[in-house]
Amino acid sequence: MEDMIKSLREKKKAISAVLIVLAVGLLALALILSFPASKSGEKGSHEPGTDGIYKTLEVHFLDVGQGDATLLICGGEAMMIDAGSNDSVDYVKKYLDGQGIKKLKYAVGTHFDSDHVGGLDEILSDFEVETLMVPDQERDTKSYKDVMKNKSKAGKTVIPKVGDTFTLGDATLTVFAPARNDYEESNDYSIVLRLDHGEDSFLFTGDAQEESEKEMLAAGLDVHVDVLKVSHHGSKKSSIRQFLEAVVPQYAVVSCAKDNDYGHPHAPVLKRLRILGAQLFRTDEQGTIVCYSDGHSPAWNKDPSESWQQGRAPEKTEDDGAENKAA
Ligand SMILES: [Zn+2]
Repeated sequence: MEDMIKSLREKKKAISAVLIVLAVGLLALALILSFPASKSGEKGSHEPGTDGIYKTLEVHFLDVGQGDATLLICGGEAMMIDAGSNDSVDYVKKYLDGQGIKKLKYAVGTHFDSDHVGGLDEILSDFEVETLMVPDQERDTKSYKDVMKNKSKAGKTVIPKVGDTFTLGDATLTVFAPARNDYEESNDYSIVLRLDHGEDSFLFTGDAQEESEKEMLAAGLDVHVDVLKVSHHGSKKSSIRQFLEAVVPQYAVVSCAKDNDYGHPHAPVLKRLRILGAQLFRTDEQGTIVCYSDGHSPAWNKDPSESWQQGRAPEKTEDDGAENKAA
């Protein structure tokens, strides 16, 4: 009897061992099968989830000369961050048409300088805008008045607060600035947005300057991202060393005109980016630049610029932020 029990126990042990080996084997097989699928799986057709497959996010940094206009597309939804000046609005509208865009889920005017919102009134007229996002800033300028005249054409207007989040496809955007509505410099009113798409991250800074950058750092906001839209066209009034050292961008994009009046981008900013090992893209040299994110690593439609050449300006001191033409 005892022998029988002993042999039964041993049999059970043997069966358990076999089951454990089988389970471990199956788990390993599942891991092997799932790993390449999440790395090279087809794009744009799955919901985000534990499988790590994301809809493609496209970020188009439009060449609008001296100004900013960025088009984001993800999961069939589109959004603009700034719309360039009046001079470039035809190019922006044609570009949106070329992408088959009729509707924008969000249109953001980062702040009311004409090189960011000059074209926004026409975007509000010609495209269906669900939500217009602008800072709590008043200006006595034509650009400001034009946007105010057309803002009722948007479904609604929102003044975002730090910490607010919203989605575009399966990307999440978080508001990082402005924290106040009483800045001295118009540029510091800039709406700053962090975008997260899987493991890829972006920071869109508008023209935020030193004061806003210091506030973001003091608030402990996580500004560490893969792709930085360099603030204020590469001006040295922005991109202070501590800020860039917190961002540590792998890629940096400067939007400015060739031989612009301000000498953007400025040498100290280029030097800081270069020391941090960033790859630089710039619209003055490369025209419109597109970044594609699959949620794992950003890819670009162009090779990075190798020039590291500061902007060449006519003999003149920088005095932006003081007038309507402010860059
Ligand atoms: Zn600007």
